[in-house]
Amino acid sequence: MTDHKSWLSQDIEYLKGVGPARGQLLREELGIHKFVDLVEHYPFRYIDKSQIQKVVNLGQDGQKVQLKGKLIDLYEIKAKKKRLEGFLNDGTGTIKLVWFQKIKWIKNALEPGHEYLVYGRTNVFRDQVSIVHPEMEHAAKALKKERAALDPVYHTTEKLTSKGLDAKGLRKLIQNLFTKLSPAYVEETLPDYLVEKLKLPTRYQAMRWIHLPSDEKELARARLRLKFEELFFLQLKILFRRQNQRKVSEGYIFDTVGDHFLTFYKKHLPFELTGAQKKVLKEIRADLGSGHQMNRLLQGDVGSGKTVVSIMCMLLAMDNGFQSCLLAPTEVLAKQHYESVRSMLKEMDINIQFLSGSIKGKKRKEILEGLGAGGVDIIIGTHAILEPKVKFKNLGLAITDEQHRFGVKQRATLWKKGSPHPPHVLVMTATPIPRTLAMTLYGDLNVSVIDEMPPGRKNIVTLHRREKHRMQLIEFMRKQIAQGRQIFVVYPLIEESASLDLQNLMDGYEQLLNVFPPPKYKIAVVHGRMSSEDKDKEMNRFVNKVAHIMVATTVIEVGVDVPNASVMIIENAERFGLSQLHQLRGRVGRGANQSYCILMTGLKLTKEARKRMATMCETTDGFKIAEVDLELRGPGDIEGTQQSGIMDLKMANLALDGKIVETARNIVLKVLDTDPELTRKEHLPLYRFMARHNKDVEWGKIG
Ligand code: ADP
Ligand code: MG
Repeated sequence: MTDHKSWLSQDIEYLKGVGPARGQLLREELGIHKFVDLVEHYPFRYIDKSQIQKVVNLGQDGQKVQLKGKLIDLYEIKAKKKRLEGFLNDGTGTIKLVWFQKIKWIKNALEPGHEYLVYGRTNVFRDQVSIVHPEMEHAAKALKKERAALDPVYHTTEKLTSKGLDAKGLRKLIQNLFTKLSPAYVEETLPDYLVEKLKLPTRYQAMRWIHLPSDEKELARARLRLKFEELFFLQLKILFRRQNQRKVSEGYIFDTVGDHFLTFYKKHLPFELTGAQKKVLKEIRADLGSGHQMNRLLQGDVGSGKTVVSIMCMLLAMDNGFQSCLLAPTEVLAKQHYESVRSMLKEMDINIQFLSGSIKGKKRKEILEGLGAGGVDIIIGTHAILEPKVKFKNLGLAITDEQHRFGVKQRATLWKKGSPHPPHVLVMTATPIPRTLAMTLYGDLNVSVIDEMPPGRKNIVTLHRREKHRMQLIEFMRKQIAQGRQIFVVYPLIEESASLDLQNLMDGYEQLLNVFPPPKYKIAVVHGRMSSEDKDKEMNRFVNKVAHIMVATTVIEVGVDVPNASVMIIENAERFGLSQLHQLRGRVGRGANQSYCILMTGLKLTKEARKRMATMCETTDGFKIAEVDLELRGPGDIEGTQQSGIMDLKMANLALDGKIVETARNIVLKVLDTDPELTRKEHLPLYRFMARHNKDVEWGKIG
């Protein structure tokens, strides 16, 4: 075989020590088909053999230790449970070694009186330290040969283990492979100038060090290189696709800052914009003037002031002769948007309309005509706006609030409502997604973040309480109601235990009725099993301050604005994820009053649940919370991650490797900026990669 590059493409069964039977198992069990797959089967941890402990210092149960001492005795015990026992003395003390399996074989292999290196996990029982099934090596021999200080440990399966391919067996195969693997066989995937500039080890070097590190430093460098490479190519795929998408979607140019925008800004804006709002507006305006269609995600925690940003964008559209629409996922939310936009723009001569499924007959006809003829400047509403009958004269800007409720398909429908160009799209969300994840998940969207709250916000006091505090809680509720405040009480409701959960909620509701009886007190109740009419009715009782308490499932999670509500009580809080808890808490703290969030839980909590409660009590910063969430759950649970390619990462971890994501992304941007088609000689490896993954370029393409 003269072609160096194909050496690694050989079928795994031709590797020494594999053969057809084991080859088939490797394919079936671990997806290892070729040599290269084995090389990319990275260790998941390492055993540190660089340290030798002293027996006198042992005492902790379950510790992984390496000892060096003399084997002073070895005998079989033929009790009910047959076993082999021995003792090891290292000059500072003696420990017991025990084997239950392969007794004969081990007894033959070991020689009492000799020095051994012993490796294993300690058991401590009544001051006697023992190790069961220790790994034993002749000290003289072991120390003479060059030993890896860090022994790699590999994932394997039961079936493979039974065929001799346990972690040790796999280690042997890989070591074997590396004796044959010449650097020339390993294709460098990154451009040479990058490897040099970033002082990364070559791909070959990294492969070698990840499997056979001689110290932590080599391991760290290998890890960095492999993580970088993975994230670099993930970003390359995403950004390359975005670049090509952009070429096709030309957009309207909004280059006029006119009367509407300026009058509002100078005369009617009731407050100074925050620095973050200004920054975000600038980013949006750059998009709107670029000649490409804007696709921007606007992230901002609840209450950070996204609405006013969206209003100013719509005014900009008007100044350039275009209509805008603003969509919200529910009728209640859409109505709230409509009211607040209208009140902000009430001094100005702008035709703003509301459209939802409940707008029918003459009114609906009027609105549709207005949209078609151009009389309506701004339309705010629900999915009803997406219906085919709704036609615009010239839709230039489409804004959606809470994107999670809008699928990619619906976004595509919006695109088609503009012609000749699709409207600019601004997607607003209060769900904080860590930046690194957003950059990967929403690669096709540019991301703007409002990371600063308007001044004068009161912090929401968050407390973790248990059942024994129930009486105090009720007293507290009574006082808040006496002060004119309103209270949310939220129960979990998940599909799998829906009827039980519903029962829980109804029980809680009954209890509250006992403690806060009508007619003095009024309690509204909302849950997923109600008709949407009933829901709206109950909701309105609370919004209009008729009801003091609102008992609900998480249906209230998104967007409802009741500034007078100052207390959020979350029952069974341990059953909610962090981001949900944060969203729920965001329902209070919207008015002038001190607000509270009370997390009620049972006594026994998992470590993870405790961390969630503590995080909520410590911070109200949605991004910090999202980071912890990502750390606790991993990216797999976050919407949209499954199809993004993130889950294929072998080395990198988006929760922990944010810095590397940023670096990789910035470098990719620079590469594409100077060489968009990747035709330069030094980018040949990248060109090859993209050619190989060409089909991926299509993924997620909208429309
Ligand atoms: P969200 O980002 O959750 O949609 P909103 O746009 O509803 O937040 O804003 C929350 C509240 O803060 C509103 O009452 C709004 O008028 C007010 N607000 C927005 N921006 C500012 C600002 N720069 N200064 C003071 N108040 C502001
Ligand atoms: Mg909002």
